[in-house]
Amino acid sequence: NAPLAEVDPEIAQVLERELDRQRGYLEMIASENFVPVSVLQSQGSVLTNKYAEGYPGRRYYGGCEEVDVAEELAIERAKSLFGAGFANVQPHSGATANAAVLHAIARPGDTLLGLSLDHGGHLTHGMKINFSGRLYDIVAYGVNPETSLIDMDEVRRLALEHKPKVIIAGWSAYPRQLDFAAFRAIADEVGAYLWVDMAHFAGLVAAGVHPSPVPHAHVVSSTVHKTIGGPRSGIILTNDADLAKKINTAVFPGQQGGPLMHVIAAKATAFKLAATPEFRERQERTVRGASIIADRLMQDDVTGAGVAVRSGGTDVHLVLVDLRDAALDGKQAEDLLHEIHITVNRNAVPNDPRPPMVTSGLRIGTPALATRGFGDAEFTEVADIIALALQPGADLEALRARVATLADAFPLYPSLQQ
Ligand code: PLP
Repeated sequence: NAPLAEVDPEIAQVLERELDRQRGYLEMIASENFVPVSVLQSQGSVLTNKYAEGYPGRRYYGGCEEVDVAEELAIERAKSLFGAGFANVQPHSGATANAAVLHAIARPGDTLLGLSLDHGGHLTHGMKINFSGRLYDIVAYGVNPETSLIDMDEVRRLALEHKPKVIIAGWSAYPRQLDFAAFRAIADEVGAYLWVDMAHFAGLVAAGVHPSPVPHAHVVSSTVHKTIGGPRSGIILTNDADLAKKINTAVFPGQQGGPLMHVIAAKATAFKLAATPEFRERQERTVRGASIIADRLMQDDVTGAGVAVRSGGTDVHLVLVDLRDAALDGKQAEDLLHEIHITVNRNAVPNDPRPPMVTSGLRIGTPALATRGFGDAEFTEVADIIALALQPGADLEALRARVATLADAFPLYPSLQQ
């Protein structure tokens, strides 16, 4: 039982260097966040040793009395946080949660209608070589190329034409709120299930700064590690008692074996924290920060040349930059921001003229920096740094120094040593 540094110095160094990287860079990947130390504690705990196939009180293994307490807490807190009658907290990830949802409400060969990947949808919503695209018949809706917004008339037209079994509302890259009531009305009209994947915006929903899909959808899935800022994992919610049973069966034994009890305990803590006023305040800063970044990037007076922002702004925690008419492509812009220690990811724009490994867009998110403590002033400074960096001939050294000043002012995990 020697410490990691002794047993495996190479991996110990990876942990150490990664902590340094997270401290020194400004993390703006929209799907990332920093978990609190309390969550790290559960994830690095002896609960990782425990097999607990089944559900609390109905396990296929002995010795589950303590992990049952953890899972019950996670379930009750998830239900209360999102106002749902049922929660399954066992999915290992967002993708496995989504696989279980489809397992519960559709059969292979059924038609699904979801947002296409290159318009901001997720792999599990019907991408060709993902399980969803291989097992189901996929019809995709997109965004309007002029407005970058989902056109509900188009969703309805496709639903009436293809009579899908499931309509999927949810996204990985879309800067606006969805009209859940309109999606449900279309689902009811064609006799489809409405499944909302709120993986990205669940933290905003928990804080009440974004409408909740729970009253509208038959099923809601989510990750816990994006805006919520909990452990990397998934959950599934519903208010329908019949679907609840199907979802439990679909997760175990349908989709997974033993649940990750160290992660489930960490989810319980994350849901407890998400019910606090501090969490709400953080989500407000997250959304305001994204709005500040969108506005300043579009403004001409910061750099003398504005950057195009898709849909002309944002209602959520991310901004989609459109580089189709810019000097840099998505890959070059991502690499350049990396050079000044800002981490973002390149992202395809609809009908992107460039290949998926290059793209013509950037996705910029504020959740991790809001967790770090950034407020309006810091997000304004970040926006200016990004706008300047994207201009030809930018002074990268000066910008890197401005990034370092921000990072130093908001120390990350000050008491943590890896
Ligand atoms: N659903 C959506 C909308 C997502 O954006 C993501 C992750 O990016 C997932 C599901 C999958 O989550 P995970 O990466 O945990 O499998």
